[in-house]
Amino acid sequence: MKRSLEKEFEKLIVKIKGYNADELDVKFLKKVWKFSKLAHSGQKRLSGDPYVLHELETAKNLANWKLDIKTIAAGLLHDVVEDGAATNEDIIDNFGEEVTGLVSGVTKVSNVKLRGKKEEEFVENLRKMFLAMAKDLRVVLVKLADRLHNMQTLSYVAEEKQERIAKETLEVFAPLVERLGMGEVKAELDDLAFPYVYPAEYEKVKEKSQVHYKKADLRIKKMKRTLLKKLSDQAIKAKIDTRKKHLYSLWKKLERPGVNWNFERIYDIGALRILVDTVSQCYAALGIVHQCYKLVPHIGVSDFIAQPKPNGYQSIHTIVFSPGQKIIEVQIRTYTMHEQAEFGMAAHWAYSQAKSKGVKDELLARGISVDKDKLAWVKQLTEWQKVITDSEEFLKAVKFDTLSRRIFVFSPKGDVYDLPSGATPIDFAYAVHTGLGKYVKSAKVNEKISPLSKKLESGDVVEVIKGKSPKKPSSRWLDFVVTLQAKHSIAKQLRRLDS
Ligand code: MN
Repeated sequence: MKRSLEKEFEKLIVKIKGYNADELDVKFLKKVWKFSKLAHSGQKRLSGDPYVLHELETAKNLANWKLDIKTIAAGLLHDVVEDGAATNEDIIDNFGEEVTGLVSGVTKVSNVKLRGKKEEEFVENLRKMFLAMAKDLRVVLVKLADRLHNMQTLSYVAEEKQERIAKETLEVFAPLVERLGMGEVKAELDDLAFPYVYPAEYEKVKEKSQVHYKKADLRIKKMKRTLLKKLSDQAIKAKIDTRKKHLYSLWKKLERPGVNWNFERIYDIGALRILVDTVSQCYAALGIVHQCYKLVPHIGVSDFIAQPKPNGYQSIHTIVFSPGQKIIEVQIRTYTMHEQAEFGMAAHWAYSQAKSKGVKDELLARGISVDKDKLAWVKQLTEWQKVITDSEEFLKAVKFDTLSRRIFVFSPKGDVYDLPSGATPIDFAYAVHTGLGKYVKSAKVNEKISPLSKKLESGDVVEVIKGKSPKKPSSRWLDFVVTLQAKHSIAKQLRRLDS
């Protein structure tokens, strides 16, 4: 299939116009596009498509997640150094530091080969990836947009490589995407990887589920008509999406001991989602659903609007009897919550960027550079680290000792420090800078004054309060510090000041 490259590029521009017309600089993006085409001239993908189409599809994925122009430019350029004929200097000269930083961040993350020869290598590599990602959320979003297109074109890749790539997607990228709250993207990655990693199981669930999908579809369409009428009777403007459960998550559920391939036990093989403008309309819609269909006792309503999930997910879920006494799930949320649920951190990032531009300038003018968004992101990352170190599946596959014996802590600016577990604010001070140790007066952990011997935990934000002049470190510190760096520096400073 030959597609006109220019027409495809036009589609990208139209997409951006749809959400970010203000920032859209067509001339700039055309220049980026031209540069990318030149850098990849003559190169083809395994599909036979011009290589540059992969850069373009990556950028389109980023535009679907409503990201800013610099990130989209980085998407268009993410392979020009690694696989094309351009250098980092070329990108700096043409497009500036910010875009270059994003592109080289993506290259760094891509060069981390997750599956090393030895288990320790895998763990070490995963750690490197965390640190590279923590510097800028947008780096990982470009990497994910890239991975998504690579998965969409996986059928062209040599067979012996397919399984490895798909497995890495299922085990590393999909859980990461889930932690970022990007539910739709996670489901898409899962379903793309599923047939390559578990081919027989994929065929089985595909075949067995067909008839159940069909039946569910009929019930749902009926409910949709009824609910739309009732909602409009109450003057509630609503949209109702119907959806099928994704194949991979259906399979996971069917395999559960309590379900054991009994489709009657799957309540969300098809579901309805009611979208409204405001939170109070959500609750009004909930009332209407319960008037029309009887609530299933005991498993009924979950209100994630009043109590959002840890990754920020908000929605009301209710499980009711549909016509024909089949159990079915209805979700109710606002359009804003919906965007957040589908694109998670990406949506959050795009939104807070747009909203806080003015505020940020003002803070910068006052010399304050605390970047709240960045902190939110690194916290998410720490959460994810906890999940994978807790996850049995992972622990079975690799020995996660090394990773679980490390903690990530943050400076108030959001810089990440990787320390052994048991590290204290003093270890942190010496990790930031060996000279800082002499100035330690006290320390704050998560904005509260804390003992200098406190054992830090992953995700802590640590701040060293400096005294006016350098002091001799306390010899007591040697009793509790754990890093070699702190031990050596303290001993050295004590010796020097003793003589
Ligand atoms: Mn790529």
